[in-house]
Amino acid sequence: MPFVMELQPQGFVPAVRCDHCGNHVTAETGLILWSIDSPLAIGSAPVFIACDQDCADALTARYPESQFAVIALDAYLVTLVEDSLEIDADAVREREELAWTIEHTRDEVDQVLD
Ligand SMILES: [Zn+2]
Repeated sequence: MPFVMELQPQGFVPAVRCDHCGNHVTAETGLILWSIDSPLAIGSAPVFIACDQDCADALTARYPESQFAVIALDAYLVTLVEDSLEIDADAVREREELAWTIEHTRDEVDQVLD
């Protein structure tokens, strides 16, 4: 699964891993690939994530019978977040900060009561 949570010093943070080599994928070189041979009845296709063009070529070589399309990872994610899912990034950050503050305050109250 290319979308993962990585344990960093500040805690778990979202990250993306390459479907071919397993390395960290950056926005600068990351690519999204999908087969354009998917049956029309499905109406969608799963995607592969590659960290760079070399891994994209290696992934598509596994399926010589299929034809693949490619888009830059950053372009895919911006389209997904802003157009398809219509996520308001500022509103989500505000909500998550509020939820963290409430949880942190609850923990402090629990410590005082213990
Ligand atoms: Zn890779």
